[in-house]
Amino acid sequence: MSTVERPRLSFWQKLYLPEIFRGLVITFRHLVEPRKFTLRYPEEKPVLPRGYRGAPTLVRDDEGREKCVACSMCEVVCPPKAIRIQPAEIQDPNSKIERYPEEFQINMLRCIFCGLCEEACPENAIVLLQDFSLADYTREELIFDKRKLYELGGTIPDPIKKWKRK
Ligand code: SF4
Ligand code: SF4
Repeated sequence: MSTVERPRLSFWQKLYLPEIFRGLVITFRHLVEPRKFTLRYPEEKPVLPRGYRGAPTLVRDDEGREKCVACSMCEVVCPPKAIRIQPAEIQDPNSKIERYPEEFQINMLRCIFCGLCEEACPENAIVLLQDFSLADYTREELIFDKRKLYELGGTIPDPIKKWKRK
């Protein structure tokens, strides 16, 4: 256990009113000075740093095929259990892949944008966008299904072409 020293106040700080006046001076200075930190959101959007973690989405390869193989790694690793996957078997004997997600849901009300799903995915099939503004009118609309996740994620090039026949 450590003891935190109480800061010693100067005579003027003990008078209290000068500190209030000093605070007001700072407030008025920000009123007249050019804006530095405040944005008129949502008209102005912030410039986000590279690697910013926003909403997770699913992506297709450059031939429009879903990259996800329904391995459920992301579902297992997700801390708030925001992901639900219903896998299905691929019947084609020539397919290089055995499973695909029949249904894939991400509950954006639960998601904490941690990025663990993206890190765990062996297929780079789930990526985090920079989208952080997900407001809607009902809770149901914030449970994104597979169609919506692919709509948001779009496509990324995949040099492996795993869906090609053997
Ligand atoms: S970003 Fe984190 S919380 Fe959101 S779905 Fe992925 S693992 Fe779950
Ligand atoms: S998104 Fe990736 S980790 Fe999640 S089930 Fe699909 S392939 Fe597996």
